[in-house]
Order: sequence, then structure tokens, then C-alpha cells
Amino acid sequence: MIKQPACLKCGKKLEDEAQEYCSDCMRKEHIFDRGVAVFSYTDAMKKSMYAFKYNNRREYAGFYAECALNSYERYFKLWRPEVIIPVPLHKARYRKRGYNQAEIFANELSRLSGIPVDNGLLKRVKNTVPQKELNDKERVHNLNNAFQIMGDSVKYRRVLLTDDIYTTGTTIDECAGVLKAGGVSNVYFLTVCIGRGF
Ligand SMILES: [Zn+2]
Repeated sequence: MIKQPACLKCGKKLEDEAQEYCSDCMRKEHIFDRGVAVFSYTDAMKKSMYAFKYNNRREYAGFYAECALNSYERYFKLWRPEVIIPVPLHKARYRKRGYNQAEIFANELSRLSGIPVDNGLLKRVKNTVPQKELNDKERVHNLNNAFQIMGDSVKYRRVLLTDDIYTTGTTIDECAGVLKAGGVSNVYFLTVCIGRGF
């Protein structure tokens, strides 16, 4: 669990009580409105996330979602998202892995919160290099035009994006940009983990 003080934008744990934003959020303007993560990306969580993503431990999502609701129910009430949208995988990667971990997490959150999941609206149209292999600048370029809205209108005003890990927020920002261009007013995120120390 991430304890206070935490960044008012991305929810990352802050070392200094007097700070409002993490150094990353002070440095750049995000497109998403606000977000939180359930856990810091510690060594223990690294192992858990690896098993969840690559070793088919899909059942972990139930535990992650329960922790999310326990910690952040107030944000669900405050943000009032109409829908949960998982950050999509490109179909080639989906086929290889067999499931989208962000979607499994979204489904569990939906089961506990009653907020529906829409996994057909946002598509990943570019099969990108994994973000963890790139630096900050390359991350932005890598995801340019990676996502698209399917169909011609978006009926949602407030969207909650889910993903497994938030690091610099490039992926969430890219999705938020596409959604906002499609008419969504507010984009929030909830991820299982958030990186530390930048
Ligand atoms: Zn932040």
C-alpha cells in the first residue's frame, strides 16, 4: 500500500511531506487528470507482477483489485468514472501472451465496484517496443499514434484507465490524449504498481 504523503497527480509516494508533486510531475504536464497505484514497485511486487503478466497467475488480479478498493474507494466516489478501460495490448502481443493483464485487473475492479468495463473502444494499433527498454524521450516517440478510438463517437465523460505499472505516465498520457480528443472530459488511472525514485 502506498502511504501518504503521495503525489497529488500520479499518486507516487513522496519522501518529503512539504512536497505536493513528485519530481516527474513537476517537470512535465500530464494529459490525464489524476491517478493512483495500489503498490510501490518493490522487489516483492516485481516478482508478483512478473508472475501475473508472464506466468498466467491471473488470479492475483482479485487480490490487487480488493486492495485497490480498500485503499481508494474515496477516489471512485470522487471521480465517478462511468467506465473502466484497460490499456490495450496490440493484438500480436495479446495472441502471444493469451491475455491482457490490464484487462484482467479491470474486470476484477468492475466486479467489486459495479462500474462496467469497455475493452472495445480503445485499440493499440502499433506494436511498440516495451517501454521499459527505452528512455523518457524514446518512450514518447515510441507511443506516438499507438492508440486509436474505434467507432466515431465516445459516449463517456469520465474514464478510469487501468494498467499493470505506471512509470513515467507516457502510456496513460497517450491513451488519455486519444480519449480526450474523442470527447472524454476527465481521464483517471488506477494501476497495480507505480515505479519509485524519479
Ligand atoms: Zn507524480
